[in-house]
Amino acid sequence: MQPAISVLGMGRMGAALAHALIKAGHPTTVWNRTPARAAPLAAAGAEVAASVRNAVAASQITIVNVSDYQATQGLLRDKEVAGALAGKLIIELTSGTPDGAREAHGWAQRQGARYLDGAILATPDFIGTEAGTLLVSGPSGVFEEGRAVLAALGGNVQFIGEDPGLANALDSAVLALMWGALFGTLQAIAVARAEAIDLGVVAKQWTATAPVIDGLVSDLIRRSADKRYAADSETLSSVSPHYGAFRHLVELMEARGIDRTITDGYEAIFRRAIDAGHLHDDFASMSLFMKRPA
Ligand code: NAD
Repeated sequence: MQPAISVLGMGRMGAALAHALIKAGHPTTVWNRTPARAAPLAAAGAEVAASVRNAVAASQITIVNVSDYQATQGLLRDKEVAGALAGKLIIELTSGTPDGAREAHGWAQRQGARYLDGAILATPDFIGTEAGTLLVSGPSGVFEEGRAVLAALGGNVQFIGEDPGLANALDSAVLALMWGALFGTLQAIAVARAEAIDLGVVAKQWTATAPVIDGLVSDLIRRSADKRYAADSETLSSVSPHYGAFRHLVELMEARGIDRTITDGYEAIFRRAIDAGHLHDDFASMSLFMKRPA
């Protein structure tokens, strides 16, 4: 018999989590602020709790997935609910900051509850599939307790470390990578539109260029880890050719009236690195200039 699980929050993600738990055979209790959103889960076999306290009392493990930590606090930091959490495991899968997770872990400990913090690196359609990725941090013994339940939510559950803030920290780092690509794509679309290039042609070039970019990204991470900033025989590209090509993009954007908010940020970082003498160093030397200037 699988352990009973309660899930708070039946938004897009919370509903997907609850469906995956039901599918894996866990007796599942759900709660949502607007009860109507829990109805499809009831049809799928979940119990619908009338209150947060009842939901928490129904299981040894409560998964929370609401919009943000403030919403979680509004639900859990109630005397009755907190009392019902004593001796139980909270798995917080709402997105948040590393410090938010650390604070929540401390609060849970003071209530006599165990706590894991998870970041979901997947859209709801990936939940319950082999490709579903969840990053989890918190005490390793507690992770072992939650491991089987987490495995029902995705085939790629990764324990990131004992510090409860680490899952959110890594999540933010990966999202920074993602938004780099997505905002870069917005710029590519703007340039293509300004120059009447069919977006299908841009899509084709992305497919052709993606392996090159993938190689550059992996190389940048590797060289930064090794602090190999000076150009050497393995350098793929120094700062100089990047900056030259970047200036062509800026000129084109300026001429076509394309917003330069993003490129102005790139320019500032290029300038700091070049002014500090890194023009002919490996592009990885740019990683030294990502702190806010004093
Ligand atoms: P959603 O907007 O569909 O659902 C939000 C849920 O939070 C709803 O159930 C709503 O009732 C609840 N909620 C909001 N404020 C509340 C409050 N004050 N009290 C009680 N309940 C409250 O959002 P979602 O897509 O399901 O995302 C939920 C969480 O999962 C977020 O933290 C999000 O960052 C994270 N996440 C979502 C995705 C995704 O692709 N949708 C991917 C990774 C992580």
